[in-house]
Amino acid sequence: MINIQNQEDLISENVSRDAKGALTFAGQDLSTLAKTYGTPLYLYDEDRIRMRMRAYLSAIEKAFGGRGNVQYASKAASFKRIYEIAAEEGMGIDVVSVGEIYTAYAAGFPLSRAYFHSNNKTDSDVAFAMDHGVGTFVADNAEELYAIDREAAHRNIRQRVLLRITPGIDPHTYAAVATGKVDSKFGSAIETGQAARITALALSLPYVSLAGFHCHVGSQIFDASVYLSTQKIMLTFIRDMYKAHGFLAKELDLGGGIGVRYVKDQPAPDIEGTLSSVAEAMKETCRELEIPMPAVSFEPGRSIVADAGMALYSVGSVKRIPGYKTYVSVDGGMSDNPRFALYGSPYTVLPVLPHDGAESEICSVVGRLCESGDILQEGVSLPADLVRGELLSMLTAGAYQYSMASNYNRIPRPAVVMLKDGKASLAVRRETVEDIVALDI
Ligand SMILES: *Cc1c(COP(=O)(O)O)cnc(C)c1O
Repeated sequence: MINIQNQEDLISENVSRDAKGALTFAGQDLSTLAKTYGTPLYLYDEDRIRMRMRAYLSAIEKAFGGRGNVQYASKAASFKRIYEIAAEEGMGIDVVSVGEIYTAYAAGFPLSRAYFHSNNKTDSDVAFAMDHGVGTFVADNAEELYAIDREAAHRNIRQRVLLRITPGIDPHTYAAVATGKVDSKFGSAIETGQAARITALALSLPYVSLAGFHCHVGSQIFDASVYLSTQKIMLTFIRDMYKAHGFLAKELDLGGGIGVRYVKDQPAPDIEGTLSSVAEAMKETCRELEIPMPAVSFEPGRSIVADAGMALYSVGSVKRIPGYKTYVSVDGGMSDNPRFALYGSPYTVLPVLPHDGAESEICSVVGRLCESGDILQEGVSLPADLVRGELLSMLTAGAYQYSMASNYNRIPRPAVVMLKDGKASLAVRRETVEDIVALDI
């Protein structure tokens, strides 16, 4: 007999069990929330989001004085309420599409504080972003720079631009989320000379105002030495561009990527520690290279929203295939969370109700989609007496889940509910079957 209670690790301080052993999130009762809003359901702990935003803002202030910025990489979780919170907290944002720009705009976010990323901004994307007053474009390639210059010329403005540079760093992370290596689809590589050439091009364009350089080497990074290597390569590039063109970068954007805790053997994000060690290293590098320290920005996504989120599912069936495995099917799946299917991402999955004294069983938690790869998590220890209708919670579910949701199999996307001060409020309503056919002519 294994007591699940004693084994479990609740991963984050905003997850606990009440006196009856039922799981709570942000101090709220999950069965009540599921009854009110239905499942699958995405819950966000608003205080946790604010806490992380403040941690970044204060860490950057401490480490870099007034010469730093933090942009929330909003692709991690993008809906109006998040942009309102970011605006209230004084954060900048990263956006990667007209959809994100429009969502932020609709939320009243001051878009002068937005940075527009993506490796392929179309001409109409560029125009849309300028129409909405996006402050900074992070240009990925030469074609884009020409498009920005053309569009800015029409408006007779000089558009603020950073160049995305590929420093050639392998962040020891999953291949699909490693973006800083030379062969990445993103940015211009230093090693091949393309970064130097695109800098010369940007400096030659009359309606482009080059402010500096950007890089983002990957995601779910726990090893601060990745950032320490990156700053050195990027500052050396800044020094080289100064020598070559007399251009002194005002801003160096070091991207996002700080790792979060999905399972118990991973540490919680160390925001202050990472930023202060980067700041120390940068000061040293600037002294060695004899260049002034640029303003520094970071673009965290995952580490702001991941553990502020929880996904709730209802169990449908428990299928035991004797001698093989046990499948627990839930009412969501890769349509609301494709991360295991895409990257094999680990997660902590827990039953909401206590099962004191129940035996545990190793299960595959799978979705309801017609696709064998529709797996939410493998190797999950769950009580053997789990039954249809029971709630399962997936922890650390706030980043790259709801924002990656699709309508595959024409499954309506879940609702998103914000939790604050013991109250719950809908941030995004559940999609209906009418929404599903809304675009069909
Ligand atoms: C996705 C992304 C980020 C955020 O990465 P996290 O790992 O979520 O912190 C930052 N910058 C760029 C350019 C990105 O594409």
